[in-house]
Amino acid sequence: MIQENEIPKYLKQKESNISKSNRKSKHKHHYEECLIQYRSTFIGKTHLNTGLYTYCTICGKINEQFKENKSIVKDYIREVNSPIGKCYSHIPDEELYEKYHNKLPVFFVEDIFKEGYVDLEQNNN
Ligand SMILES: [Zn+2]
Repeated sequence: MIQENEIPKYLKQKESNISKSNRKSKHKHHYEECLIQYRSTFIGKTHLNTGLYTYCTICGKINEQFKENKSIVKDYIREVNSPIGKCYSHIPDEELYEKYHNKLPVFFVEDIFKEGYVDLEQNNN
């Protein structure tokens, strides 16, 4: 388990991790499902979000989540009855984490919109 206060160390190590990994060598990306936790700030408060994504097991590249029929998360999209009719909404972050963190690898990414890669070493256990 990674402590939050160890994360900056990971970020600093990033450059050496890149040279150690196969990231630069040519390969066909191989995507597996994962959960990615990332921070976002809303009205001055920082939240830890959990999202369903896929990552390349070779280089760590983050990609979109699998289509529902390929995903193990069968209840990601749910129908919600609202006053204006049926809506679709995705499973709340907390519930996603609770239900699936034992079934899927979990990565932490400081800024998911900037980084584009997970640190594969975070999940070496
Ligand atoms: Zn790759």
